[in-house]
Amino acid sequence: MLKVVKFGGSSLSCAQQFEKVKNIVLSDPQRKIVVCSALGKRDKEDTKITDLLYILHAHLKYSVPYQDIWDMIYNRFVGVRDELKITYDIKADLDSLKGELNKNMSQDYLVSRGEYLTSKLMAAYIGYTFVDAQELLRYNYDGKLDDILTEKNVKLAFSKYEKIVVPGFYGAFPNNSVKLLSRGGSDVTGAILSKCLNVSVYENWTDVSGILAADPRIVKNPQSIKEVTYAELRELSYMGASVLHEETVFPVQELNIPINIRNTNDPNNPGTMILNECKDDSNIVTGIAGKKDFYSFNVFKDHMSDKVGFLRKALQVFESYDVSIEHVPSGIDSFSVVVAGSQVEKYKYEIVTDLKRNLDCQVSVETDLALVATVGRNMAKRSGVCAKIFNALGNEKINVRLLAQGPSELNIIIGVSADDYDKTISALYESLVR
Ligand code: ASP
Repeated sequence: MLKVVKFGGSSLSCAQQFEKVKNIVLSDPQRKIVVCSALGKRDKEDTKITDLLYILHAHLKYSVPYQDIWDMIYNRFVGVRDELKITYDIKADLDSLKGELNKNMSQDYLVSRGEYLTSKLMAAYIGYTFVDAQELLRYNYDGKLDDILTEKNVKLAFSKYEKIVVPGFYGAFPNNSVKLLSRGGSDVTGAILSKCLNVSVYENWTDVSGILAADPRIVKNPQSIKEVTYAELRELSYMGASVLHEETVFPVQELNIPINIRNTNDPNNPGTMILNECKDDSNIVTGIAGKKDFYSFNVFKDHMSDKVGFLRKALQVFESYDVSIEHVPSGIDSFSVVVAGSQVEKYKYEIVTDLKRNLDCQVSVETDLALVATVGRNMAKRSGVCAKIFNALGNEKINVRLLAQGPSELNIIIGVSADDYDKTISALYESLVR
């Protein structure tokens, strides 16, 4: 049995966090593959190493003096090394990086040094072998992972060293230059390694005890979810719950490898298990999530229902502006097209003009729509959930402007006015989850 364990920046922010990580890793002999992010924030006011490196790069690029930023980066790494008395000569690596700094340095390379140096520190501290992600994760020039080569590299490195620390967040192109993943990408590194070695579980260690059933900025002390399916997670993340990098699930889902979200500051808490299928059916609703800032284009036309191709023509207008559509609730002689505000902000007048011209219809636009999703695998084929939702919203005098449920019955989406957003999330959480 083998586990990949990935630690996020908050789990690696200072010497005390390194100690916790060491205890976690060494307390389970199956935890043989460790993935590290870069040193994260020590408190709310602090800055992540990754952000400092981006700032450093901008200073270099525009030839702005950078010594202060450099000192901050240098001192944080050296501080952790000194406090933990790690033997790795990080000063030599930092000095050689400083010598390489120049105006044309690749941003990907410079930013990746955050996870590189953090992982070297960690490897020396826990007595594992450091293996550079540049040698493992190989990408084609189009940015796609070369699965076959990557799997070969990972298997080889693991069979050679057996206990390894790999930096997250980057890999390499065929010419060996660093390819950085998108922000939060160490999650994806962990998932790729998990798939290559077909591990029994991918543990993702962070600073919360699992995925919360609602946004804690809105609901006080929401409970954490014990088990969630990959499909539910996708619905929750899509609707705004920030959990894992969105590309994390694909590699592990293929092999049905569970992801376990754990808390470095509360290691005995079992956290959340993300699985293909879940046994736990104690909750009908798994979680509530939502997003603001949707636009609704409302289209009206008499006898619309008799006209073949009418909806297609309307959707084509959105396609021509490269806008993806969220929902299309419909009546007999009217329907609305709901889209993310960020996608149409620039073209809203053009879209209205095109709709009117191409369809000879009336159009109105509402811009203050919020969507709230009630997600739960156990809702399918069960009666009474909608009754509870409407009851809860009715009691709070919240007007429902849109209602949608997909065929999998995994998700019930309610559209409300943006002003009612927080109230809606709280009301649904209290009546369906708490
Ligand atoms: N350090 C990177 C970031 O801040 C990558 C990661 O943490 O996964 O986005």
